[in-house]
Amino acid sequence: MSPADTAGIVVVGNGMAGSRFVDELRARDAATPVTVFGAEAQRPYNRILLSNVLAGMTRPDHISLVDAAWYASHGVDARLGVEVTRIDREARTVHASDGTVTPYGTLVLATGSTAFIPPMPGLRDGLPRGAQVFRTLEDCRRISELAESARRAVVVGGGLLGIEAARGLMGRGLEVTVLHLAGHLMERQLDPAAGKVLARTLAALGIGTRLQAEVAGLRTAGGAVTGVELGLPGGGTEVIDTDLVILACGVRPEVSLARKAGLAVGRAVVVDDELRSVTDPSVRAIGECSEHRDEVYGLVAPAWEQAAVLAGLLAGTEPAARFTGARQITRLKAAGIELASMGETHFGDDDEDVEVVRFTDAARGTYKKAVIRDGRLIGAILLGETSTAGTLTQLYDRAAPLPAERLGLLFPGAGGAAEAESPLRMPDAATVCQCNNVSKGRIRACWQGGARTADAVARETRASTGCGSCRSAVEGILAWLDEQDTVGAA
Ligand SMILES: Cc1cc2nc3c(=O)[nH]c(=O)nc-3n(C[C@H](O)[C@H](O)[C@H](O)COP(=O)(O)OP(=O)(O)OC[C@H]3O[C@@H](n4cnc5c(N)ncnc54)[C@H](O)[C@@H]3O)c2cc1C
Repeated sequence: MSPADTAGIVVVGNGMAGSRFVDELRARDAATPVTVFGAEAQRPYNRILLSNVLAGMTRPDHISLVDAAWYASHGVDARLGVEVTRIDREARTVHASDGTVTPYGTLVLATGSTAFIPPMPGLRDGLPRGAQVFRTLEDCRRISELAESARRAVVVGGGLLGIEAARGLMGRGLEVTVLHLAGHLMERQLDPAAGKVLARTLAALGIGTRLQAEVAGLRTAGGAVTGVELGLPGGGTEVIDTDLVILACGVRPEVSLARKAGLAVGRAVVVDDELRSVTDPSVRAIGECSEHRDEVYGLVAPAWEQAAVLAGLLAGTEPAARFTGARQITRLKAAGIELASMGETHFGDDDEDVEVVRFTDAARGTYKKAVIRDGRLIGAILLGETSTAGTLTQLYDRAAPLPAERLGLLFPGAGGAAEAESPLRMPDAATVCQCNNVSKGRIRACWQGGARTADAVARETRASTGCGSCRSAVEGILAWLDEQDTVGAA
């Protein structure tokens, strides 16, 4: 047996996936040596909530995922602020920026993604002062600092992240313009009509939008940003003056280590249903740095599901666990903009084999759409009013047959489907917390075990500790259970 065979598990990356994996592993296996390397200096934190931090709704010290004493009390060797610089697959070791060489039996890659910086004038030699990406707590701190003295901000990129950043900056009193290359906002999640309504909603909040905006470069003076240069269709350029530029142009999986180590990398590290590299059985990859069945996920729910599956496999407690893919449901976290989107939303009335149910009231910022195929929901958008989001999520997630009355999909109380929104009708199997995959049945079981508050349920199940959008649903279920109890006792 080589030293590596007894060397335990080494995790590279201590973000949302890596930290959850370590936690899930320790819940099943207290003995296997575990070392986790995190390039960021602080303890892992809930990256999703950075948008709330930027908006001033959440304090940075409230988003930590791990208590300071946890690593020591759980026998985990956490190397915070230490980057792994090389993997030696032959020797089964990792080399780190602190000069250490650590052997592994199993290597778990959880290196996530890095923000994409478009190669354009003004950005080729690094970011000038006043230009920032938005991925880490440190980015968030810098943006907040810059926003203190800035008057105007331009957000390059009108995807989910760009819009959340724009809303946060606008809330801090800045004049904000979003520049987006595509013909409509959030084009991956929304159809053009929804994108239009969203732009109108942003305008009503005071956020400007420019579509089909080709950013040609940044203008700087004395090393600081002064403007964004737009290429015009007929040639020539237009300059938008600004003091702050947020680059929200998408992310790229962080796969440089894996690539250098000779692992198969497509868009990310290619893994099988056991999250095992197809090149090397002693290497696993989870989260945004992994590519599973041609899919690279950019949301936390799949990353956390992968972390649990891998922990069960490596601890030996769930040897049959497999990751077989996940459905993607997006919710925007921006004050004054309710938005949920899932699945295939781009179908229209002319498309055969699908049924599209739609409602638009652009003046009030409302757009609702359900896309149905073979009597099942395959996509939906709820913008402006999302009270049936829970119901639609359940129906989409479970590919459940839909009620004949379609209107209830979009309007609560208008038909059978939305009644499932009430805790009374909601089946026990319904997923309440999408990020952590917690069902109503589990919440009920917690309540029966004595958990009477949303915090108590969160401690036992983690429900509402991801993006937090299910918090009111959890509270609603608990209130309903309390009420049932009182009625039963009377
Ligand atoms: C502002 C914002 C809002 C978001 N909102 C949502 C949302 O509402 N819903 C949702 O589902 N998702 C959301 N996301 C996406 C979500 O945060 C990611 O899907 C999730 O963080 C992916 O987890 P990960 O562990 O794969 O990557 P990360 O969380 O990025 O963690 C990777 C970690 O690995 C570290 N690392 C990389 N290379 C090395 C190395 N060589 N050595 C040591 N450490 C290394 C990095 O420093 C990083 O800390 C949001 C993201 C952002 C930035």
